[in-house]
Amino acid sequence: MATAVVKSNVVILATGGTIAGAGATAANSATYQAAKVPIDKLIAGVPELRDIATFRGEQVFQVASESFTNEKLITLGKRLAALAKDPGVDGVIITHGTDTIEETSFSLTLTVHTDKPIVIVGSMRPGTAMSADGTLNLYDAAAVAADRSSGGKSMLIVMKDDILSGRDSGMRINSKTNAFGSQWGALGSVVEGKTYRFRAPVKRHTMNSEFDIETTPPCPRC
Ligand code: ASP
Repeated sequence: MATAVVKSNVVILATGGTIAGAGATAANSATYQAAKVPIDKLIAGVPELRDIATFRGEQVFQVASESFTNEKLITLGKRLAALAKDPGVDGVIITHGTDTIEETSFSLTLTVHTDKPIVIVGSMRPGTAMSADGTLNLYDAAAVAADRSSGGKSMLIVMKDDILSGRDSGMRINSKTNAFGSQWGALGSVVEGKTYRFRAPVKRHTMNSEFDIETTPPCPRC
């Protein structure tokens, strides 16, 4: 008798950025408005996601990531921590503008305690541009978030087929789709919805971090 495969339940916390951006024409790969397209529309634009897991979107913010404040970061972190504790949630994806992905991923790695997969993803071109990178990046992020072996490894940044540690990765160039990297190399990569690992992440944070978003008061100086 065939065993039914139980799909993971993944929540996508949407915050805006270029992955939710729109330009006037298909030639506008660098001139466009970030944070225009709602998360439900982004999910509907990648029907292949249904083959990987069950996804539900939450629009937390709709901003370009240069507009992230400490208050927004704490709000996002607290929502992430609550979802990470929910037994009905197996993984979380955060869609985010690339300008401050590294700040958000480093901060959440230090403050959110979970061994569930948490993936942060963005894009360098809006969905309206020729050769837009957001749909594949989202599909790759989905594959990583639905893979239980992605848990307990810091926040993971998924961009351009690479799985990067959110603790030691950052933007190296802001005009190309391979914008992100780490001096220690990628943790792994994603190809056609399958994940491959190259190196072990630093274990100090995430589960073992000395900081905790749940005991952080709502931004005292904001
Ligand atoms: N300015 C945009 C943002 O960070 C750039 C991007 O997402 O690539 O929201």
